[in-house]
Amino acid sequence: MGEISQTALDNLRESLRGPVLAPADPGYDEARSIYNAMIDRRPAVIARCVDVADVRAVLGFAQETGRDLAVRGGGHSGPGLCLVDDGITLDLSPMRGVRIDPSTRTAQVGGGCQLGDLDHAAHAFGLAVPAGIMSTTGVGGLTLGGGHGHLTRRYGLTVDSLLSADVVLADGTFVTASQDNHPDLYWALRGGGGNFGVVTSFAFRLHPVDTVGLAVTVWPVNRTREVLQWYRDFLPAAPEELSGFFAVLAVPPGPPFPEEIHGQKMCGVVWCYTGDLEDGSMEKALAAVGTPAPPAFHFATPMPYPAVQAMFDALIPKGLQWYWRGDFFDGIPDEAVAVHEKYGQNLPTDLSTMHLYPVDGAAHQVGADETAWAYRDAVWSGVIGGIDPDPANADLIRQWCVDYWTDLHPHSMGGSYVNFIGDDEGPARVRATYRGHYDRLAAVKHTYDPENFFHANQNIQPAAG
Ligand code: FAD
Repeated sequence: MGEISQTALDNLRESLRGPVLAPADPGYDEARSIYNAMIDRRPAVIARCVDVADVRAVLGFAQETGRDLAVRGGGHSGPGLCLVDDGITLDLSPMRGVRIDPSTRTAQVGGGCQLGDLDHAAHAFGLAVPAGIMSTTGVGGLTLGGGHGHLTRRYGLTVDSLLSADVVLADGTFVTASQDNHPDLYWALRGGGGNFGVVTSFAFRLHPVDTVGLAVTVWPVNRTREVLQWYRDFLPAAPEELSGFFAVLAVPPGPPFPEEIHGQKMCGVVWCYTGDLEDGSMEKALAAVGTPAPPAFHFATPMPYPAVQAMFDALIPKGLQWYWRGDFFDGIPDEAVAVHEKYGQNLPTDLSTMHLYPVDGAAHQVGADETAWAYRDAVWSGVIGGIDPDPANADLIRQWCVDYWTDLHPHSMGGSYVNFIGDDEGPARVRATYRGHYDRLAAVKHTYDPENFFHANQNIQPAAG
């Protein structure tokens, strides 16, 4: 496809309040850089939208010029779904306003917000929305995929707190989807990804979360078997106030970890406690952490929730090489334990890791068909991440991830959290993500985007219901 004409660009610039960047413009390379540095794509235009009017203008421009369109929220997707070569990136990053209404305990959140924007604004009122575990992840992509993190066992998935969404559809129509208004779209948005339109604003229910208990326990990697066998029974039976994601990792080179264990391969659990911090209930909930084997290090402290959310930001900043794959699990049989033991001992780089995020507790209290999220029966959402700063290690981390995933997949439920699908997994994996919900999603897609205009995503093909 050739260059977009100067006249067309000038017209677009005139109709937008936000900046429009083409390849020759200063700032273009920064604007096309995303969290995963393994992705190197060159859109023809990056249009930064400040409001719904801008969004509508960019959609019209993409249609007039016949270009592919990608929507950028926080730019955190592993496969770089917010960039298409020679296409248009509709960049929502200027739309980062958050309005908290403490009287109704609701938040109105701009479509380009990062989790840290929401955490910061809500924390001022001792409130929070359950979301992911890093402050720089986009609210947009995370929410539309489902969203899980430290608060999931206590308050459910992010979509379980979504009250409504303002959406600009492919034809430029603006709708607010909620239980009472476009309920089919509201259902699909709660897990169906960016398939249905551009969400310019999300309305969330807030929950009382202020200072929480943060704890980290690590054990030598050669104790993975005992630890994981203990964890698989302990966590699902633990009170919903306690969450803890399991990881294989190399110990980060900094506090709170003592220097003598820096860089050592370990398995561990990052705990978050949202119950009373004064009455000893956290200590009681965590009393068993020494049971499987003596920890190499255990650390527990009260921490403001936004600080917990920002804990990993410096460790894994933007600009690293990433390749990831995921799967859901309803148990961790001994055969799977052996796989974790093997690959945990063979981490290809210090940042590479595997996490098992709990998605039980409150997330299980929502009916299987109430939202597009299709794995209410899963207990963990697992992700294997090959991560390293050096592009020369791209093949190494990719291969480790694929091998680990291939050995583990037979012990999974068959599908992955949509936001953990790798860049080369293909449409069968999207179907596996949505299981019995796929056809219903395809019908909603047919209603709201029959031409599949929004296809830079984990795509659901439109089909009449
Ligand atoms: P983008 O790349 O901007 O967008 C991803 C997709 O969502 C694209 O298809 C895009 O078009 C679409 N999209 C984004 N915003 C909108 C919008 N407003 N309207 C319409 N479509 C939109 N996930 C969890 O659930 N929990 C975690 O704890 C977690 N931790 C993570 C940690 C790291 C370091 C990383 C890199 C990712 C993590 N994720 C987690 C995965 C995360 O949910 C996905 O990467 C998600 O896609 C990020 O959304 P984004 O808006 O930042 O991404």
